[in-house]
Amino acid sequence: MWQSLRGSSCRHFTARVAMADVVVLTIAMAGALGLLIGSFLNVCIVRWPAMESVVSPRSRCPQCGTLIGWYDNIPVISWLMLRGKCRQCALPIPIRYPLVELGVGVLWAAAAWQYGISLEALRAAVFLTILLGIAMTDAREFIIPDEFSIGGTVIGIGLAFAGGALGVRDAVVGAVVGYVVLATVGFLGRKAFGREAMGGGDIKMMAMVGAFTGAWGVLLTLMFGAIVGLLLHVAALPFRKTAPVRADATPDADVEEMSAEELRAQGYLPFGVSLAIAAAVVFVVGAERVIDWYLAMVL
Ligand SMILES: [Zn+2]
Repeated sequence: MWQSLRGSSCRHFTARVAMADVVVLTIAMAGALGLLIGSFLNVCIVRWPAMESVVSPRSRCPQCGTLIGWYDNIPVISWLMLRGKCRQCALPIPIRYPLVELGVGVLWAAAAWQYGISLEALRAAVFLTILLGIAMTDAREFIIPDEFSIGGTVIGIGLAFAGGALGVRDAVVGAVVGYVVLATVGFLGRKAFGREAMGGGDIKMMAMVGAFTGAWGVLLTLMFGAIVGLLLHVAALPFRKTAPVRADATPDADVEEMSAEELRAQGYLPFGVSLAIAAAVVFVVGAERVIDWYLAMVL
């Protein structure tokens, strides 16, 4: 009796250790995959707003034009080995590059840790990666590339078709609600304030958010996004430069034609950044739980 008990508990222990190994291995592999995808996201962040291909040409140093070898293109590690400088000309490589790689690596590892190897892990990882890409391009250039927004909408609905946690109907309705609500807010804002309140990029972005989080996700993201935007606006006030605006620029000049510097000087904030932060929180916490919190607070 004693013998057999010990035997079985021993086997049990071995099985548990093996399970833990598999889990750690899964998370590590997801993290490594995330690092590579982060490296690709860096290329998208720079090239999509400029309407350039992300496939060719291969990456070159913007200053000396030297092709970047694979050994200088290993996520995070190469940047550390090169101490953030080009091997040939010593031009600094922005710290944004390793940070985005590391960020996406952590996101993919966290998704695998939370959901295991599953469609839901893929859905979480892809959605959060797209949001990071949008936050970066909008912060840098006030642009949300269609590849992220429209492409992301297609991927979100595709993952629903493949059997994701959000059903096909909810994903499609979410995308439509995202588009229509933001387009309406933009239209009313233009009527009320006489200036662009919502860019076309924000509208398409929220269709993508709806395809991943559903109609409630859209509404909660919009609500939180407004709060995050207000906080960022207040936080940015001390740093706001009253940079010289182009001589012919007037307050009601066409926003679409202003450069990122001009928009910043006029006090515009990239709303996509706030929406991306809000959408990530809503997705991670879950729309139902957010509504429960809210109701518990109000009632
Ligand atoms: Zn160089």
